[in-house]
Amino acid sequence: MKLLKGNLLTQILIAFVIAIILGLIFGQSIEVIKPLGDLFLRLIKFIIAPLVLSTLVIGVASIGDPKSLGRVGTKTVSYYLITTAVAIIIGLSIAFIISPGKGLSIEVPSTEVEVNETEGVIQTFLNIVPENPFLSLADGNILQIIFFAIFIGLAITLVGKKADPVYRFFDGFAEVMFKITGIVMRFAPIGVLGLVAPIIGQYGPQVLLPLLKIIIAVVLACILHTILVYSMSVKIFAKMNPLTFFKGIAPAAVVAFSTASSAGTLPVTIKNTQDNLGVSNKISSFVLPLGATINMDGTAIYQGVAVIFIAQFYGLELSAMQLLTVVITTVLASVGTAGVPGAGMIMLAMVLGAAGLPLEGIALIAGIDRILDMFRTTVNIVGDASAAVVVAGTEEELDRSAFEKQAS
Ligand code: ASP
Repeated sequence: MKLLKGNLLTQILIAFVIAIILGLIFGQSIEVIKPLGDLFLRLIKFIIAPLVLSTLVIGVASIGDPKSLGRVGTKTVSYYLITTAVAIIIGLSIAFIISPGKGLSIEVPSTEVEVNETEGVIQTFLNIVPENPFLSLADGNILQIIFFAIFIGLAITLVGKKADPVYRFFDGFAEVMFKITGIVMRFAPIGVLGLVAPIIGQYGPQVLLPLLKIIIAVVLACILHTILVYSMSVKIFAKMNPLTFFKGIAPAAVVAFSTASSAGTLPVTIKNTQDNLGVSNKISSFVLPLGATINMDGTAIYQGVAVIFIAQFYGLELSAMQLLTVVITTVLASVGTAGVPGAGMIMLAMVLGAAGLPLEGIALIAGIDRILDMFRTTVNIVGDASAAVVVAGTEEELDRSAFEKQAS
């Protein structure tokens, strides 16, 4: 079994390298294998709504009394908010140092970038409450599904014995969804090939080079944040070797990189944190669906870098007050960003608007958004997994034998 898992990661990594080579050799024409990627995406997407519902119900119901739930919830949300704030500060700082927008002369594309009106904070919060939970399930509205699931879980605890059949139903259903995830993951290497090769083929060096500095800034900030924040958190709060952590979450990281969707990666993130990192079902079922929806450190980093880039490009100096506004709105924006490709760029409009920067700036980086998205999504899900490890570590919910075996 162990060998099989190791093999899967190796296979995914090999597929990844082959994808890059094929993309470089064949350019745009590698597009023909894209349906393989789309198939994989659809396979993992269909798991999400039922998986989130069943695992979260079980997560909440098995945490038990509302007091423990409150404690775990507070820890989780605090960790998410603090790490996101750190992420945006790292993003801003690296962008200041690298200055990606200075001395750049690219024409602002005249085509308008479609920016959806952001709805405002109050409406965003109201939208969390579903009017009809079955519609939320049908639409795959994760935040509403989370709301529904937390309530069912809580009510199961409050009802007690009579609700046993409901608990057992969701418990069994969650197991079935995990099984499906395992089966779908065997297809991951082919999926990764089909997703990554067309992207490399499409973005030849000619698209990337003019904006290389911004890519470097985002990637550097992502690496710094991952090494500083996540290594230290898992080491300090869970006494876990950071290398074990990164190795355990690697398959999900590659899937996140390939799909640019943390919601899409969720089934794999849950599987990796449970199987490889020893996080209990109870904690991972609660922390991870929430994280895939509200915790976006990579997105925050990207927004920080983008703000500085756009300000520099237009020759605008940002005041301390504007920078503070950026930090606060970015934390909110990353909570409101859906875990789907490109969502972070739409939320960037909200941050730019709050800081009084020109929205057209988004057009400058829209062309390379997908590339930046791959990096930020990877950080997003690694951040979620680190939260699961940290919360499990402090709640005595970490099965050390799962990863100590691996490390030896
Ligand atoms: N694609 C990101 C995610 O799914 C969100 C974003 O666009 O920043 O995590």
